[in-house]
Amino acid sequence: MIEVHDLHKHFGGFHAVDGASLRIETGSITGLIGPNGAGKTTLFNVIAGVLPPTSGRVVMDGEDITGLPPHELFGKGLLRTFQIAHEFSSMTCRENLMMVPEGQSGESLWNTWFGRKRIADEERALRAKADEVLEFLTIEHLAEQPAGMVSGGQKKLLELGRTMMVDAKIVFLDEVGAGVNRTLLNTIGDAIIRLNKERGYTFCVIEHDMDFIGRLCDPVICMAEGHVLAEGTLDEIKANDQVIEAYLGT
Ligand code: ADP
Repeated sequence: MIEVHDLHKHFGGFHAVDGASLRIETGSITGLIGPNGAGKTTLFNVIAGVLPPTSGRVVMDGEDITGLPPHELFGKGLLRTFQIAHEFSSMTCRENLMMVPEGQSGESLWNTWFGRKRIADEERALRAKADEVLEFLTIEHLAEQPAGMVSGGQKKLLELGRTMMVDAKIVFLDEVGAGVNRTLLNTIGDAIIRLNKERGYTFCVIEHDMDFIGRLCDPVICMAEGHVLAEGTLDEIKANDQVIEAYLGT
């Protein structure tokens, strides 16, 4: 689904991504690991259109998508999860989900005057969809809770839920497990596996928790110093001398 060819991202003289090439196969849950500073997040941000690359190419399903802005990639089903912005923390979990789809009729003045019924119908459909997503993620009891009041792990589930409000094809998840307790981390893992198996989502996941990576991801790609060191199952990666050296060297 995604091919990255010889990607570079320089910040001044610093080469955060330095010739990274990789493939993310359709239907996979691909893990991206590597020591701190390896360039994983920067690579994600370039693929997701948040940062322009210095050079190199990103291809999605055969189409060159290098440097396209996030909203265009969103339209193609390529999503990167983001933390819920502070401004939205007083809105309920359900409202946070309902905000995601673009192009709702309620946005135009014309529709405000002439399309009241349609807006009401759309809002009802969106609400039903949001409730379905909350149920899928086993957090339906949080529907009326302000998003700012729920736990870190529940917020991560909500971030994942936002990708379910649109027709996502590939979702990039950055450190889903950071600061999340084991039980919720398992719930997040279950949701990812179900989205992959039942809805055909492809995932690329950055995560430091190796149990989580081992349970979910095949293949696992290890980056260090801005490029790909090794790819394989987690066991193969763990046995790779270059990988061991990269982790020990930090
Ligand atoms: P990882 O996600 O693997 O920990 P990052 O992609 O976050 O790595 O960072 C790779 C390197 O690029 C780090 O040394 C980081 O300090 C540097 N870096 C990231 N973003 C910027 C930026 N906006 N300006 C300067 N340096 C940056």
